[in-house]
Amino acid sequence: MEPIHIIGAGLAGSEAAWQAARAGVPVILHEMRPAKGTFAHKTGDCAEMVCSNSFRSDDDVMNAVGQLHWEMRAAGGLIMTMADRHKLPAGGALAVDREAFSAAVTQALRAEPLIRIVPGEITELPGDGNWIVATGPLTSDSLAQAIRSVTGTDALAFFDAIAPIVHADTIDMTVAWEQSRYDKGETEAEQKAYINCPMTRDQYEAFIDALLAAEKTEFHEGETAGYFDGCLPIEVMAERGRETLRHGPMKPVGLTNAHKPDEKAYAVVQLRRDNALGTLYNIVGFQTKMKYGAQTQVFRMIPGLENASFARLGGIHRNSFLNSPTLLDDRMRLRQRPNLRFAGQVTGVEGYVESAAMGLLAGRMAAAQALGHDLPPPAPTTAMGALVNHITGGAEAKTFQPMNVNFGLFPPLDEMRSGRKGRKDRYPAYTQRAKDDFRAWLAAQ
Ligand SMILES: Cc1cc2nc3c(=O)[nH]c(=O)nc-3n(C[C@H](O)[C@H](O)[C@H](O)COP(=O)(O)OP(=O)(O)OC[C@H]3O[C@@H](n4cnc5c(N)ncnc54)[C@H](O)[C@@H]3O)c2cc1C
Repeated sequence: MEPIHIIGAGLAGSEAAWQAARAGVPVILHEMRPAKGTFAHKTGDCAEMVCSNSFRSDDDVMNAVGQLHWEMRAAGGLIMTMADRHKLPAGGALAVDREAFSAAVTQALRAEPLIRIVPGEITELPGDGNWIVATGPLTSDSLAQAIRSVTGTDALAFFDAIAPIVHADTIDMTVAWEQSRYDKGETEAEQKAYINCPMTRDQYEAFIDALLAAEKTEFHEGETAGYFDGCLPIEVMAERGRETLRHGPMKPVGLTNAHKPDEKAYAVVQLRRDNALGTLYNIVGFQTKMKYGAQTQVFRMIPGLENASFARLGGIHRNSFLNSPTLLDDRMRLRQRPNLRFAGQVTGVEGYVESAAMGLLAGRMAAAQALGHDLPPPAPTTAMGALVNHITGGAEAKTFQPMNVNFGLFPPLDEMRSGRKGRKDRYPAYTQRAKDDFRAWLAAQ
């Protein structure tokens, strides 16, 4: 049987290799480390955790990432098996002994007769065969150039510029209103595409003070190579002058407060729809390097967002990722070159767990193809299905930025109460539905 080639033995590539081999398909796993490193990786081991040693919440009832753990365990995932085996006490989180974890993943892959790990960098995209590209946020330069030559230069970003994303049902619509600037757009939906939060002068001044005072994170050493001015954090804009934001992303022009038509706002924060479901909105132009705790405090100063719940907070990182909603089909294949599947962080998911989950899926899909079957993704009601559905179509392609798993990606349950208060009932219902549907997906294989 023709082997599956996987480029990159990180979190995604390791899981993909394991899943394909378990399905009985031979795998050649190409890894450039240790001969060629990155600024973040320190070893030559597979599935190296480059920063924190946590796989985040292990609560599979009230937390979407915990639900993703559950699904990966149910699918016999190598990353979860080894994480459980090398777990450290960390309250409700799944933290691991990183060295023992990576060593165990490496050993398991080396011991698997169907997997051969081949050292070396891959610099070109192969024209045929069954390939998975899982080269991560620090994809080597030559391969990144090769990808760009196929996808177009704008389709593979080198930095993310993530603005915070808010659960739509936690925005106070008695304060905020829907309107596009100058009511632009042909349809009513377009004319109401944005949610606007108004600020008085005092509120704006207090907001700028808070931005300037907030604690910020630093770039890692070596991370800024190639960073450019196009995605300035809002706090840097504020440092350039107190009025800069009011003439930039917070300009109040072309908007009329639907609740107080006679009152002119001094500044306006706009939120734009982030997914087809309409459950998530991003704060336009608010990419930031403020620490997470500070972000929540500062962004809840915005009128209408006092009780906002954040699906993800902002950030700016060195991060190679594709514009997957336009480039990948729902089998995670590059539309232009279907012999290439992408997996992991390079597809625009964010985080160790999400990357490994996309590896799991790509590995199973590639193996199914090698065996002459077709494997559809799990239902979008599951954590894995919600994530792959988001990156391959559910997300807004124009503003696509990396996403971690969260309940905002799940199709809402009609009978459930919305808003922050309804979460106690809604989240267990989501995770119960996810478990049922994920079991059904596994049983159908
Ligand atoms: C500095 C930094 C800090 C991070 N901190 C966290 C964190 O704390 N928590 C979290 O959840 N996520 C974090 N992330 C995100 C994290 O990288 C990903 O979540 C995860 O490692 C991605 O998995 P992956 O398999 O897609 O990529 P990786 O784990 O990076 O694996 C990609 C592999 O491909 C190899 N490779 C690249 N190019 C080639 C090539 N041309 N040929 C052969 N091999 C190649 C690399 O050496 C690497 O082994 C961080 C990312 C960075 C860059």
